[in-house]
Amino acid sequence: MAGKRTFTMIKPDAVGAGNTGAIIKMIEEAGFRIIAMKKTHLSKERAGQFYEVHKERPFYNDLTSYMSSGAIIPMILEKDNAVEDFRKLIGATNPKEAAEGTIRALFAESIEANAIHGSDSDENAQIEGSFFFSATEQF
Ligand code: GDP
Repeated sequence: MAGKRTFTMIKPDAVGAGNTGAIIKMIEEAGFRIIAMKKTHLSKERAGQFYEVHKERPFYNDLTSYMSSGAIIPMILEKDNAVEDFRKLIGATNPKEAAEGTIRALFAESIEANAIHGSDSDENAQIEGSFFFSATEQF
């Protein structure tokens, strides 16, 4: 299914603010099909594993504290050209730079608490989806 799937999670700021439903509506209206979804929570250690690629960055400790501060909604999504189209739908990492109408422009609080994650490659979509879901949980 190369090129057809991406991984996302709605982050603690957006879940806590009650924006889960509005964000999922935007995702479905943009043509993505939800393959797997749950509401869960990351420990600081698991958040550290998920963001291991950033462990040398100055914001790593803050990021893992934030990502373990509340519930998250991880999802696997399907659509043609999923990774690239989803990155367009969510907008730039920094909401001040995110294009108008994107999920981060509408819902993100800051460069850190930026409402939603989107995989940056097909390979990472596969790795990140498997971090949260077994093969039998994907429909
Ligand atoms: P993404 O692919 O757009 O999510 O961005 P990155 O992979 O570069 O960063 C991962 C996550 O780390 C972002 O989504 C933010 O939550 C957080 N982050 C990125 N840059 C910064 C920063 O400069 N400061 C802080 N505090 N957090 C950041």
